Amino acid sequence: MSKHAYVTLVTNEDYAMGALALVRSLRLTETDADLVVMHTGGAPAQALKPLAALGARLVPAELLPTSDAFNERHQRARLHANAPFTKGNKPSFHTPLDNFAKLRLWQLTEYERVVFIDADAVVVRNIDRLFGYPEFSAAPNVYESLADFHRLNSGVFVATPSEASFAAMLARLDQPEAFWRRTDQTFLQAYFPHWHGLPVFFNMLQYVWFNLPALWDWNSVSVVHYQYEKPWEQDHPKAAELGPLIDLWHAFHSGENIPDVETLANPSP
Ligand code: UDP
Ligand code: MN
Repeated sequence: MSKHAYVTLVTNEDYAMGALALVRSLRLTETDADLVVMHTGGAPAQALKPLAALGARLVPAELLPTSDAFNERHQRARLHANAPFTKGNKPSFHTPLDNFAKLRLWQLTEYERVVFIDADAVVVRNIDRLFGYPEFSAAPNVYESLADFHRLNSGVFVATPSEASFAAMLARLDQPEAFWRRTDQTFLQAYFPHWHGLPVFFNMLQYVWFNLPALWDWNSVSVVHYQYEKPWEQDHPKAAELGPLIDLWHAFHSGENIPDVETLANPSP
């Protein structure tokens, strides 16, 4: 076992598809770190098999033992009503409450440091140097404007597992009336107000492709994160604009015709 691990979370069949593309992409970076998929009972065993076949360690995880009142406040329809998503659409298979189970990575104390990556992301070049970054490091939630730099995105972050940290976080999370409008992301930003900023290239959000194209440079992009609509959704509203990125995801998912990042950076004329 390595002292480092890349960790993702899967609570249903859709995100297991995402994790397959992610795990395959990580394998191709030739990392020595462990690849860990935390999964709840909602993820069918059949959908987890290909992850194990790629050498991922499957670690059962339960949703957090949050109170009924907390769970009701963060229930999907209620969260969408009280904190509407105005910039993009969340797929029907996205359950906000499930996001909080990410915090279970602090219980993976067999590792000295972990890098969490959302299951809706792919890694296009080796990012092992992230294990040398301190807790808590994350990239800003940039996909529209400079104001985005004030917020972090919790799709990629560096953390140090510790049961004491996990217990402290759980206590802070489920306070009376606590409402985390963007779930784990809002919580982590509040919990780590002095978070270390990673370059945006470690968590390049797909909307940058059409909103801030000047920022997109394949010579630097390391992780592509499909926030909002997922590349495996049929004909989603942004699919036409995101064509090349969706094709890239499908290559990683199928394992066929995966382009080299150098080729993406220097396409032949
Ligand atoms: N997740 C999951 N099931 C859910 C919701 C979230 O497994 O119903 C996990 C999965 O790893 C996912 C991450 O939590 O990538 C965060 O959700 P998502 O990526 O959909 O949020 P976005 O990046 O669009 O904000
Ligand atoms: Mn995501």
